[in-house]
Amino acid sequence: MLNIGCHLSVSKGFLNMGKVASSINANTFQFFTRNPQGGKAKDLDEKDMTSYNEYAAVHDFAKIVAHAPYTLNPCSDNPQTREFALMVFEDDLKRMEYIPHNYYNFHPGSHVGQGTDKGIELITKTLNQILQKEQKTTVLLETMSGKGSEVGSRFEELAEIINKTNLNDKLGVCMDTCHIFAAGYDIVNNLDDVFVEFDKIIGLNRLKAIHLNDSMMPFASHKDRHAKIGEGLIGEEALIRFINHPAVKNLPFILETPNELDGYAAEIKMLKENYK
Ligand code: FE
Ligand code: FE
Ligand code: ZN
Repeated sequence: MLNIGCHLSVSKGFLNMGKVASSINANTFQFFTRNPQGGKAKDLDEKDMTSYNEYAAVHDFAKIVAHAPYTLNPCSDNPQTREFALMVFEDDLKRMEYIPHNYYNFHPGSHVGQGTDKGIELITKTLNQILQKEQKTTVLLETMSGKGSEVGSRFEELAEIINKTNLNDKLGVCMDTCHIFAAGYDIVNNLDDVFVEFDKIIGLNRLKAIHLNDSMMPFASHKDRHAKIGEGLIGEEALIRFINHPAVKNLPFILETPNELDGYAAEIKMLKENYK
């Protein structure tokens, strides 16, 4: 079965997101834990989260993905910016324990001129502060396109972060198809090789979720612009090959394509029809 869903708004709560997902034949989804600027999260509604857990169990949901605000920068050169990221991560992970055994995805950040090594050191430091032995959430590092001074556009960088983190059994990777294409991994012509490389450097056992997007920007452009499935330079055929690859079997696929709900529904329908 193809586990697929899209990005949804958390504003009406978790049970609502579950029901909206069902209405478009999805069995997973992603949401921002708070507004992208990293503002205050909604008040914690334990009852709603419990209702969601029950709903997800009954409706055979796959794991869902919480996405940290993308403006957070845990490897900024500014200590206050790093401290802010740390506070948000800690608070988000506490909340995630009310919907246990799901994923919390974040962008590793931008080193803003300090160099990749320093960036990796600062991200690792943050992870060593937030990860707890008892937590039931797996934290995912997202593969990035490598715009500006972004860390995490090379598999080697993600591997180094994972290897240097103490409780790294709590860590995994979320592969964004738009980002890795823009980063220079040729998922259109050499999909097998990309997964072989991922396995060699990071380990396919670390691959936990997929952001399924087409790319408006060319291969290896290091630019991050998502396109609808089939309307970008990756193309429908390559994305269909991608979802059918044994390396990603049973993972949750999240669409982050520029769509409203009906557009997501159509993409989900098309992808399910082409899933063997
Ligand atoms: Fe992201
Ligand atoms: Fe993404
Ligand atoms: Zn993106």
